[in-house]
Amino acid sequence: MTFEKPLTQHINLQQPLNLAGYVDVGGYQSVKTALTKMSAKQVQEVVKESGLKGRGGAGFPTAMKWSFVPEFDEGHPRFGEDKYLICNADEMEPGTFKDRWLLEGVPHQLVESMIIGSYAIGANKAFIFLRGEYHLAAQRLQSAIDEAYQQGYLGKDILKSGFNLDLYLHTSAGRYICGEETALINALEGQRANPRAKPPFPQVSGLFGKPTIVNNVETLSNLPHIINQGAAWFKDISKNQDAGTKIYGASGRVKRPGLWELPMGITVRELLFEHAGGMQDGLNLKGFLPGGASTDFLTAEHLDLVMGYDEVSKAGSRLGTGGIIVLDDQNCPVGMVLNLLKFFAQESCGFCTPCRDGTAWAVETLTRIENGQGNQQDLDNLHKLCDFMWLGKTHCALAPGAVEPLQSALKYFHDDFEQHISKHCCPYHGRH
Ligand code: SF4
Repeated sequence: MTFEKPLTQHINLQQPLNLAGYVDVGGYQSVKTALTKMSAKQVQEVVKESGLKGRGGAGFPTAMKWSFVPEFDEGHPRFGEDKYLICNADEMEPGTFKDRWLLEGVPHQLVESMIIGSYAIGANKAFIFLRGEYHLAAQRLQSAIDEAYQQGYLGKDILKSGFNLDLYLHTSAGRYICGEETALINALEGQRANPRAKPPFPQVSGLFGKPTIVNNVETLSNLPHIINQGAAWFKDISKNQDAGTKIYGASGRVKRPGLWELPMGITVRELLFEHAGGMQDGLNLKGFLPGGASTDFLTAEHLDLVMGYDEVSKAGSRLGTGGIIVLDDQNCPVGMVLNLLKFFAQESCGFCTPCRDGTAWAVETLTRIENGQGNQQDLDNLHKLCDFMWLGKTHCALAPGAVEPLQSALKYFHDDFEQHISKHCCPYHGRH
């Protein structure tokens, strides 16, 4: 079956389209339409009608987020203040590599998207906050930005519309927490990347205290297509109530790990068995994280689950980034969770105790269990830690994100934990 693939149809990882080539395939048409024929409010309206939700993990409606940016009328003390749009390209979640595909394969699409998004919220300065290790993406984005300036798509009076926009590429110094939007803003200001207390929310007081919107790469990349083809088209191309397409991914021991742009709302079975080719020979599916490392495990019973925001949430997990990480029946779930928790412990910013100490304590306890030296008290302690680090008890979502794979592994793979304890070893040791 063939599907529309608006975001990825022009991807070329070997040699991405330059500006002329991108214009030849319809690139920057949306900028012409938006800046010369639509008001900023109309752009916001069409994005609202389209039902676009954030593709970075939270799934928050994009136009609603934009609507929180205040409009200061003449006479208001904040009248005339700068507003900023930031693209969160700090992709660092284990198992998630979808944005890299867009950044390296079709960089002009993101530049075009930044122009549309900035126009919609009234920002005259925009930033792409890029993961520092994405060297190739950095080169390609900078070259796309330079070309866009040369051809009048960036800078002053773009396409003689009166709209000005400067776009800056900023490469991150490299911490996972920089992907949290307020930590990202702190990092961009040159401060330590600790998440900020909210309120105030960035939409009101963000970068340098000014109204700021932070959107994910994939989210923004939808904007030109919504402007060009309309809200109804966008809603119609999905298979469920979530509009548009999604870049889904699969990693782990499937036959064809990778990325696919598919209609929003396909099932886990379609993704893993049609697109990823099923499990490698001799292996069975034991479980999977549906949307990256910070989501709850689901199991083979959930193969017919629809990969939509509400559906995955009702099943007890989150769609997250849509990058499925597969656990097969020859791999140790305790070892896998230990590996993930080591990542979160290393990336904890250290600001709040439940996360700083809790993730480290979880690593210590899981290590003991994995090495066959654990006991029942360790299991009880892991359950308690899941509670100590849960939502509302930490300063940001990193710790609850770390809890998700742990709490769900304790639920679904309880017998594996018990066997490590009763057999005093990892029962998977020596398997491949
Ligand atoms: Fe930092 Fe973790 Fe607390 Fe977030 S939850 S503020 S990452 S210590």
